[in-house]
Amino acid sequence: MRTYTPVVTQELTKLTCDGCGLSADKDERPMEFSEFLSHRATGGYGSVFGDGSLVEVDLCQRCVRDILGRFVRVTPPEPYGAEEPEGESPQADAGDGGDMDD
Ligand SMILES: [Zn+2]
Repeated sequence: MRTYTPVVTQELTKLTCDGCGLSADKDERPMEFSEFLSHRATGGYGSVFGDGSLVEVDLCQRCVRDILGRFVRVTPPEPYGAEEPEGESPQADAGDGGDMDD
């Protein structure tokens, strides 16, 4: 026999940018919502924010670009059809192990 108890859960449905205040509802602006950068962590021993401090930030994509842009590494996707043909994998380089420019 099993006994179940209803559980109340919470779902994140709206994000508000800590930089510019832009809000994105998950259902009304799903693409803007999905582009938010969110970070939530607890400061560890030696943290500049304080040991045990909760550190949170939510930034829209424009604020990420404007505030963090010079630190962010952006790699464009491969052009469509540029993937390796199925069934073929690159051969391991059996050379001298040094593939540096020489
Ligand atoms: Zn913003």
